Formats: sequence, structure tokens, C-alpha cells
Amino acid sequence: MFTVNDYCKEQFGGKVYKISLSGGMSCPNRDGTCGTKGCVFCSAGGSGEFSADSSLTITEQLKKAKELVRGKYKGDKFIAYFGSFTNTYAEVSYLEKIFYEAINDPQVVVLSIATRPDCLGDNVISLIDKLNKIKPVWVELGLQTSKSETVDYIRRGYKNDVYMAAVDKLKRVGVHVITHIILGLPYETKEDMLSSVDFAVKSGTDGIKLQLLHVLEGTDLALDYKEEKFKTLAMDEYIDLVVSCIKIVPKDVVIHRITGDGPKRILISPKWSEDKKRVLNALNRAIKLANL
Ligand code: SF4
Repeated sequence: MFTVNDYCKEQFGGKVYKISLSGGMSCPNRDGTCGTKGCVFCSAGGSGEFSADSSLTITEQLKKAKELVRGKYKGDKFIAYFGSFTNTYAEVSYLEKIFYEAINDPQVVVLSIATRPDCLGDNVISLIDKLNKIKPVWVELGLQTSKSETVDYIRRGYKNDVYMAAVDKLKRVGVHVITHIILGLPYETKEDMLSSVDFAVKSGTDGIKLQLLHVLEGTDLALDYKEEKFKTLAMDEYIDLVVSCIKIVPKDVVIHRITGDGPKRILISPKWSEDKKRVLNALNRAIKLANL
């Protein structure tokens, strides 16, 4: 398995620490452009509960985050990560301002942008192209699944071919594309989930983030869960799924994540995922046992 740590070691000579930043953007799936209710699993924090205070400038957010991690990270290389909501959903002049502010920090070695494939117009791609010539840009796309019934259920708001076209556009300008896939979405079988991973790989993604489905308070997914319309995964089921997914990912595709950070304060299920250390240890043991 080609982990993100291996990749960073290869690219930057060692461990790189990720800093979550907030550009204060919204999402077309919430403001009425393609939907008002958002994806069915998405909480009020826009799938980025750990981001910084958007009332601060990017420089201030970076400074504050670096101070906070000083005790646990001794290195001086950081990933500036815009993770919550849709981080290309604004005027290009604004995006230019915040992204340049991030990469102008000499300790920032990567600009990482999470967004939707339907928010990558030509002007955004050309900005990303310019930025990528200065420092590496990673773009993270929330595919979540490629099964059309689930796409409708989760209210993702774009079709699979939009994702494929976005990967293509990003790869043409040499960007490292990461695809986000959720394991355990309602009514999906193991084969469905493996098929989503295979779809992302065949579309040309450079990296994969596997995320356990979290049922969060205040989401429509939570309503269905409380009505017992579906069950969340047990820990051993999740571990088996992750191992099976990694088996079908080619060795040159970077595995950026094998679990997720469910915000404990609003996490309804699965509760076992709160013990992240235990889950990660069990996952790493299973991956080792499978010789991956
Ligand atoms: S696209 Fe992202 S931010 Fe928007 S509703 Fe879906 S998960 Fe939330």
C-alpha cells in the first residue's frame, strides 16, 4: 500500500503536517444552485468540522494552527488544506487571493483543495494550473460512490461523468487528484463499494481517501437511521472492506486515508469509531496481515 506518508517522504523528504483552513465558502448543494438540503450525510459544518475560524485571514489561520501543533510536530513543512464546504465555489479573484496567501507561506509545501467536480470551470482550472506551477496542488473530489441509486439517495447533485471530466481536466494541468469514497452508505453491498473504488481508479485518480460513513446529528441521514431504514457498519466489517479496497488499488495510487474523523459531539453512529487509535491499530494489523 502506497500511503500518504510514503508519498510525502518521496516528494518532500519527510513528514508533512496538514493544517485545516477555512475560506468561508458555501456549497451549491446548499445555497439552491443545485440543491438546498445538502448531501444527506453532511452536517452544518460542511463535512469539515475541524476547520479554522473563517473570520481570520489565511495568514492568521496558518499562524494559529502552527502554534497549536508545535508540541506534536517538530517539522516545518505544512499542507494548507481547504477542506470544509466547496472550496472553489467563489469568484476567481477571491480564490486567487486566499490560495496565494496560503502558498506564499514559505513553510507551506502543498495547497490542498477539497471541492465538487461541478465547481471547476475553465477559469478555476487555469488558476489551479498557475498555482500548481509554484507549489504542488492537490484537489480532492467528493465522489463518495459511483452507484447511481446511491448518488440519488445521498443527493450528491452531479452525475458520474461530471466527475470523470473533472479528473481529466485536473490531470491535464498536472494536479494530484484525490477521490473521496464513503464506505457503508445505505443499501450498498461490498461489491458496490469496490466498484466505486474501481471506478475512481479507472477514471485516473492519483489518490484515494476511504471514509467510514458517520451518521451525524442534524442530518437527514440521521432521520433514516433513527427510523431503522439502514444499519451502520460494525468495526470488523469496515476493516474487511478497507482491506478489500486496498487490494484493488494499484500500487502507484496513494492511499490518503483509511478512516475518518467523526465529530464526537454530534456522532450518532457508529460509536466504535470514536476510539480512533484502536480502529487505526486494528486496520494497520489487518493490512499487514494481508501483506498490503
Ligand atoms: S457537496 Fe460537500 S459541503 Fe456540499 S452538501 Fe455535499 S458534502 Fe456538504
